[in-house]
Amino acid sequence: MSAGEVRSTCAYCGVGCGVLLRPDGAGGLAVRGDPEHPANLGRLCSKGTNLGETVDLEDRLLHPVLNGTRVDWDTAIETLAARFRDTIAAHGPDSVAFYVSGQLLTEDYYLANKLMKGFIGSANIDTNSRLCMASTVAGHKRAFGTDTVPGTYEDLEEADLVVLTGSNLAWCHPVLFQRIAAAKAARPDMRVVVIDPRRTATCDLADLHLPLAPGSDVALFNGLLAAIQTGGAVNDAFLENVDGFDAALATARQSDLGLTALDPELLRQFFQLWVRTEKVVTVYSQGVNQSSSGSDKVNAILNCHLATGRIGRPGMGPFSVTGQPNAMGGREVGGLANTLACHMDIENPDHRQALRQFWDAEAMPEKQGLKAVDMFQAVGRGEIRAIWIIHTNPAVSMPDADAVKAALEGCDFVAVSDVTGQTDTARLAHLLLPATGWAEKSGTVTNSDRTISRQRAVLPAPGEARPDWWQLAEFGRRMGWAQAFDFTSPAEVFREYAALSSISGGFGLDFDISGLQDLSDADYDQMAPVRWPVTAGRKGGRFFGDGRFFTASGKAQMLALTPRPPQASTGKRYPFRLNTGRIRDQWHTMTRTGKSAKLSGHLAEPFLELHPADAKALKITPSALVTVTSPHGRSILRALITDRVQPGEVFAPMHWTGETAPSARIDALVAPVTDPVSGQPESKAAVAAVQRYDAGFYAFAVATQRFTPQADYWARARTAQGWRAEFAGSSLPEDWTAYACDLFQLDGGEMQILSDLRRGTFRAAFHREGRLQAALFVAPEPVAVMRDYIAGLAGTEAPQALAGRLGADQPDPGPVICSCFGVGVNTILTAIEDQGLMSVDAIGAALQAGTNCGSCRPELAELLARLPAREAAE
Ligand code: SF4
Repeated sequence: MSAGEVRSTCAYCGVGCGVLLRPDGAGGLAVRGDPEHPANLGRLCSKGTNLGETVDLEDRLLHPVLNGTRVDWDTAIETLAARFRDTIAAHGPDSVAFYVSGQLLTEDYYLANKLMKGFIGSANIDTNSRLCMASTVAGHKRAFGTDTVPGTYEDLEEADLVVLTGSNLAWCHPVLFQRIAAAKAARPDMRVVVIDPRRTATCDLADLHLPLAPGSDVALFNGLLAAIQTGGAVNDAFLENVDGFDAALATARQSDLGLTALDPELLRQFFQLWVRTEKVVTVYSQGVNQSSSGSDKVNAILNCHLATGRIGRPGMGPFSVTGQPNAMGGREVGGLANTLACHMDIENPDHRQALRQFWDAEAMPEKQGLKAVDMFQAVGRGEIRAIWIIHTNPAVSMPDADAVKAALEGCDFVAVSDVTGQTDTARLAHLLLPATGWAEKSGTVTNSDRTISRQRAVLPAPGEARPDWWQLAEFGRRMGWAQAFDFTSPAEVFREYAALSSISGGFGLDFDISGLQDLSDADYDQMAPVRWPVTAGRKGGRFFGDGRFFTASGKAQMLALTPRPPQASTGKRYPFRLNTGRIRDQWHTMTRTGKSAKLSGHLAEPFLELHPADAKALKITPSALVTVTSPHGRSILRALITDRVQPGEVFAPMHWTGETAPSARIDALVAPVTDPVSGQPESKAAVAAVQRYDAGFYAFAVATQRFTPQADYWARARTAQGWRAEFAGSSLPEDWTAYACDLFQLDGGEMQILSDLRRGTFRAAFHREGRLQAALFVAPEPVAVMRDYIAGLAGTEAPQALAGRLGADQPDPGPVICSCFGVGVNTILTAIEDQGLMSVDAIGAALQAGTNCGSCRPELAELLARLPAREAAE
């Protein structure tokens, strides 16, 4: 670390990479990977690398706002407390709720949980982590008696076989992917298997890809359990520590492997590899968790590791990777509606009593609260009348998102704490509370391998923004619990939390960080990453390899599991299985990554992946728009025709919102059905119909100022010089010139127009003082212009902007693949062909692509792999 740099943690995924931050003194930030952080050892992915582009103050919420009017903090918090107090007095404690987020720091989370479960007297606090890994929590608790990830990231490198199931690690946890890729490069005998209905970027590393039928994971892992037994890999000595083996095996033997729709030879190869390889790690993520049988899927995986004793030892074990930076911290502090703090149980009277005493709690619930889907349905029925939503955007991200939006519109009182007031959810709030952002707040987060890291404030809080821990503590004081919430710093909160964990340790539970309870403020400031537990006698390490579990019997539990299909069946009306997920360079609902021009350049528009055979049958051509409908909603998306998806299956990303592409809020199509144990929604197996959207016109526009098209479909993205948008509509405006002037809100300046109304084409460019302010391109079919080139013209002289392309001697670089160096796909393909490039490293040497964060390396590999087929096709 050099002078002026501050250690902190990346804001995004559950890998929890360490970053070194250097403020530039003008509100900006230089970011690089921390070589000493154990999660990333200096690596960063494209999102982490570009964190500095996301810290500007555009769209920031800088003052409390009550019913559209700016107010001071005193009025804001007093209103919040009064509304909650009055609602509880009139309707009881279960008439209020908190909906929080894996973006919260542990100290924030701890206070939110203490408020709701210790003083308000309800357990109606849930988190968007419910949408992410609640099935893992349930599966862990059923098998181990505790929600604990057994292993460490080093296991991924020490394994001889890494199975990645329901996890597009290359895009969603890129630095872990890079660690595995490096380990495989160093030990070519290492094997990687990817289990996923889609051929994702992660398959670049796969020796074997199993494109199983959606929802058939239990059948697959039941088949593996049976193969483990017939292959002689059962560990009889370890089974002394495990209950339920015989029943689990008997049920597994009855499973129909045909449900997986996998080639029997592929199955044989996978089973043989797994059975014969002692050091095996099974990594799983949302593809397993987001299912109406998610908990069973998790337990089917755990069964295999328990039967073989391949758990909690170097290079082996099941490994859930969390989606958010502090999803794990939220699990530890009891941020879910069905847990208490420090892995204690809400339904255990001894745990409740201990917590009551520790907190000197006024009112504690004796039963679980409402999980996310149930919570918003209760809001819709008017049973929850006041809700405080912190750092999350449920009007976009929840299943049946239109119903959630309507529920919030009808709610008596909605408070939202966030960094911006311009989210779909914040727009529905009665009270907006300005929160500090990632680089302005201080506390701790826990990553997927139990490592607790410090997040440090390096930028000043803008305007009147306040940290979440402060907002929650102040609310507690205003509610009349001054002593219990008399905190003046996150360090004080952390010390109380660490002290509480000694009670958990006293009950024989595994979550114990009491070794950190006496940290001074200076110690807390300097705290290095540390993996829990942290006690007088133990620091870090793995769990369960010693055969010790945390169930009542002290033994692990294997479960007899019968496969269940996704809850909704495809049929004549909705023939497609709709999968939703993330893309490489965006994060959740884009409130941060959407600010970065570099990140927005990778995939600038929402899309629907559709198999070529389905596209042909539906007469959908490349770049056409499609309408996607489900029993719950409707979207318009750009068709991306690819054999990465199977026939009958489609995939759409979950990032676009009412702010960025209103017709592409894909969670509006997802049914609010959940796993009966975990309450996690089935976000990867909705049903849908797809048809071509017959647009009357297609358009592409760029401008130096933000603009909002009025059209059936639009999608807007950041560029280095301003904004770009795709849009389309069924009915044509009467006057394109008037439409363009209205769209860009430009007065004066010089306008160039190229119009051929007979052909339905129109082009306009607006210059002021010799610089291009805006340009619009309209056509009756998807507009054929060089988008990245035009996007780069805004703000420049650009006398030939209306041409829409470079000169004949200057080829179109194509859509960006490498965000770091802005290298387009056509540039890469041309270099591969002209220079005979044979490897990703050779592409890097020629073009720099893939040589910084490395996030695009799987896509570069795919381009290389596909080239012979492309040549053959030509
Ligand atoms: Fe951040 Fe990327 Fe690391 Fe995840 S993998 S923590 S997004 S840098």
